[in-house]
Amino acid sequence: MEIIGHKKQWEFLKRSFQEKRLAHAYLFTGPESVGKKKMALEFAKLVLCESGKSQPCNRCQSCYQVDNLIHPDFLLIEPSSNAAKIISIEEIRTLKEKMSITSGGNYKVAVIDNAHRLTHEAQSALLKLLEEPQGKKIIILVSEFPDVILPTIRSRTQPIHFHFVKEKEIELMLKNTSLTKREKELLMLVGKGRPGVILQYLENKNLLKENEKFVEDLLELKKSPLFKRFNYAKRLKDSKEKERTLFVWLAFLRKKLLEKCSNSNSSWDTQHLIKLIKLLENIIHLFSTTNINQRLALEIFFLEL
Ligand SMILES: [Zn+2]
Repeated sequence: MEIIGHKKQWEFLKRSFQEKRLAHAYLFTGPESVGKKKMALEFAKLVLCESGKSQPCNRCQSCYQVDNLIHPDFLLIEPSSNAAKIISIEEIRTLKEKMSITSGGNYKVAVIDNAHRLTHEAQSALLKLLEEPQGKKIIILVSEFPDVILPTIRSRTQPIHFHFVKEKEIELMLKNTSLTKREKELLMLVGKGRPGVILQYLENKNLLKENEKFVEDLLELKKSPLFKRFNYAKRLKDSKEKERTLFVWLAFLRKKLLEKCSNSNSSWDTQHLIKLIKLLENIIHLFSTTNINQRLALEIFFLEL
């Protein structure tokens, strides 16, 4: 498992491990798809690796088990397994049980991905768990929206911040692929600083074509009467590609804003672009963290378009 970028964060975690200064709880924060979860899994692998080296050996049984999420001392909790995309108190109870079984002095590591999806009840239960004496246990919370997590939980964690990965490192990722120059440009745009997005596209090249369609839709909607826009909002709300569509539009509008700055002939209005970008950023945030009326939110965006 290769980590793209984030060398400082990785060095810090490795050093803490070597110097036996591990925290009981970490909070990995930063934008979506930059590699936070991947780093959490790699860190778990390092802590549990049988080789005792300063890198996971990727050969021992433990490394294999973490990679395949079957390690007895490792637990990954994520909200994707249910339709509501929440992490319930039951899952924190399972975590507590699993963490309480002693395992011959070995570490136990749990990763909670998208921790902002923990329900309020689940957060309270997690807080209690963090207040108890920990022993050789590590809980890693991963979230792009840490503000939604209780401050009392956050204060008990060691924060590690992740940033967008530099363009150069993303370019390296694309270097040995069979993509055309145009495809690489498109990918750099939509996956800006986010290796997770790039990987997703490399695994499925059709996604790029779909993205172009999303942009065409947006331009078409801009010229369409309101009832057509609202019909689109209704369909988009139930589409499983909803998040991706919104991200693609956001990337497109940001590109237009940049172009506008260097070329005043563009037909887009600067203030209008800024307004649309802010609105989309807000919608993406609310979709991930609340149960907002999604159709209404999309309609508001289409009203402004
Ligand atoms: Zn190993």
